[in-house]
Amino acid sequence: MSEILKSIPPPVPEFRPEREGDGGPDRVEIYDTTLRDGAQSEGISYSVEDKLKILRALDRLGVDFVEGGWPGANPKDVEFFERAGREPLQHARLAAFGSTRRARVAAAGDPGLTGLLDAGTAWVTIFGKSWDHHVTEALRTTLDENLAMIADSVRFLREAGRRVIYDAEHFFDGYAADPTYALLTVLAAAEAGAERIVLCDTNGGALPDQVRSAAQVVRARVPSVVLGVHAHNDGEVAVANTLAAVLGGARHVQGTINGYGERCGNANLCSVIPNLELKLGIRGLPPGMLARLTATARYVSEVANRIPGTHQPFVGRSAFTHKAGIHVSAIERSRRAYEHIDPALVGNATRVLVSDQMGSSNVLNRARALGIDLSGRPETMRALVERVKALEYRGYQFEDAEGSFTLLVLEALGRRPRFFELVDYRVLIVAGGSPEATVRVRVDEDEIHAASLGVGPAHALDQALRGALIGAYPEIREFQLIDFKVRILDGHDGTAARTRVHVESGDGQRTWSTTGVDPNIQAGPSRPPGTSAWCRTASGRSRSSSCTRWIRADRRSAPESPKTRVPRRPGRVRRYRAVRRTDSTVVPAPRDPLPNRRPAPRSAPVRPPTVR
Ligand SMILES: [Zn+2]
Repeated sequence: MSEILKSIPPPVPEFRPEREGDGGPDRVEIYDTTLRDGAQSEGISYSVEDKLKILRALDRLGVDFVEGGWPGANPKDVEFFERAGREPLQHARLAAFGSTRRARVAAAGDPGLTGLLDAGTAWVTIFGKSWDHHVTEALRTTLDENLAMIADSVRFLREAGRRVIYDAEHFFDGYAADPTYALLTVLAAAEAGAERIVLCDTNGGALPDQVRSAAQVVRARVPSVVLGVHAHNDGEVAVANTLAAVLGGARHVQGTINGYGERCGNANLCSVIPNLELKLGIRGLPPGMLARLTATARYVSEVANRIPGTHQPFVGRSAFTHKAGIHVSAIERSRRAYEHIDPALVGNATRVLVSDQMGSSNVLNRARALGIDLSGRPETMRALVERVKALEYRGYQFEDAEGSFTLLVLEALGRRPRFFELVDYRVLIVAGGSPEATVRVRVDEDEIHAASLGVGPAHALDQALRGALIGAYPEIREFQLIDFKVRILDGHDGTAARTRVHVESGDGQRTWSTTGVDPNIQAGPSRPPGTSAWCRTASGRSRSSSCTRWIRADRRSAPESPKTRVPRRPGRVRRYRAVRRTDSTVVPAPRDPLPNRRPAPRSAPVRPPTVR
């Protein structure tokens, strides 16, 4: 057979969409390999529990196949298939992954193939060689034996009642080197009963034209099976190659969530799926499921313990984020002006950043998101824009610091409340000992003095400030540091360089971000833009606590309320010790006449400022 076929040059047929796929020309199967090829990604190591979580998320998204792993390769995958078999999946069909039989060994005697049967899945995916170079150099066998290995393995699995997906490894390299032999390998799989033939760009070096024309040829040669594609991203065109294969007749696409995979990753399904559905009108997910894409992408990155790709198309946080002022004013008029799709279609959202490139539209838009309408205040808006530009020139960055931006807006409106005033602070760092921090703050008329040891200077300051404030503001118990980033602004100044600190905090329900700049890294997070040291601590938690109150106050503000400032109770004297914590040392306030007495709770809550 091989000699006859080798003499026939492969035809290049026209693309005829009415013949494509088993789901019709407007439907492709989505085959997810986040759990197998994605696990090959550097830095990813799933537990069995992680894999089950991702399996459930993929099933909720509505993918057709989930490749669970390689049961012959590791015990973790054996356990996964055991437990996954009991999952009540609605959409996804599980596939076990493995290779064809080894050379010169009977299929029934190959432990890899029998291990695939043990996984108990209805579908099995096996890969085989398409490239003559690999057959002779890597397998060190003959071209005919390789064809027999493919056919025997597929037949063995079919006879065992399995449905077979055949992955033609290195297909495009093989097709470039010897197109006839590459075609013979996929014909061998199809004739033995494989129901899907998947052309793999294993090295990730193919280009879209090449992929499309090869897919057209295979489609014409093997019309009885569904054609698939599996692309790697080494040339940064895995998504383009996948789309090209679909245009060439493929109706089964393989890839991973967020593009996880070995080396540069696999085709990113988070880009493939929306491009197919929204640009080419070819559906990959059940109706309505595309809107779950962003949430699924972020959930998988959470489980995989990877930071979500901010600039990832469609699902990234910046995918529909606008910074330049001219864009923002255009977007106010027409969303289509700078967005290629409606972000809601993929479950994402438009964001507007505050930066030195911004115009009044950004300020208006950001303030509106905070519940503050500045549309009737052109002077305030102009002043705010100038203020942000001046601060950014000094190193501040407000793009991702909505807490600090809120303070700027409230200050510009003359409605920024002061919950406490920092009088002074001091940190003592001792070689080989615990750092000690002392903090003096003023709340209303009371001056409170607290001290604390800590595991580091930031921790000591944080503990001391909490100790000083917790009596007046018990809510700060809930505040936690979530993330803390430090960036040197003038590297040539060495350790005296100005430092920008970005702090993300949360209270278990919401998160907020703040920014500060100072040559002293300890003071950086406590230098909110354009203020006196109203809260100078290195941890950022206490500063964030104040930000939170402002944000809360702002959100609660009622337009009809005449109050414009936080009311005080004049003349009330509150002197107390700060709360003693097991991990800190607290000293009494200097004027405290009643040691160990806790302050009476405030009888009236702090009123929010009104912002119109
Ligand atoms: Zn792969």
